[in-house]
Amino acid sequence: MGAHPFGGRTVRVIKFIPHSFDNDGTYFHILEKAWERGESFINVEHDIIIPDKDPTLAVCPNDWCAAPYPYLDRPRQFGLGCVKFSDALIARHQTMFEVIGTWYNNDHPPKHWCTLDSWTYIYLIERGEKRCENHELVGHEGHPGKMSSAHGCLTVQRFAIP
Ligand SMILES: [Zn+2]
Repeated sequence: MGAHPFGGRTVRVIKFIPHSFDNDGTYFHILEKAWERGESFINVEHDIIIPDKDPTLAVCPNDWCAAPYPYLDRPRQFGLGCVKFSDALIARHQTMFEVIGTWYNNDHPPKHWCTLDSWTYIYLIERGEKRCENHELVGHEGHPGKMSSAHGCLTVQRFAIP
């Protein structure tokens, strides 16, 4: 974790290492804790590469900003990979993690890391928030080949780990 300038204040940058996760709910709990602090933060997933030209999330005046990254055959994917949530946005949606922590689907129990992108996006969009996508492309190392095609998370969890 580090700090970047953010409108005269400071924004925390969370960069996590999924191999240290205890279980499929760890990512949820990391973001939930960050949310509970009520301070602006930037989340950068482990396989995102920030180029020399910073995607400028920290200094953008918008409350919810995402930098695009290549994902599988999509050149510009937006999600939690490189995202900023401002303190103002968090204040408007203090109970978001309480609510989405109860959501699940056929493949994933509540709080599973794989559904976090969708649940946070749906929650905020349905409540009138707009995601700023006007940022520079960042790099993305992961997801080689078809093995981890969206949606292969359960396969990877069950069979790729010896
Ligand atoms: Zn922005």
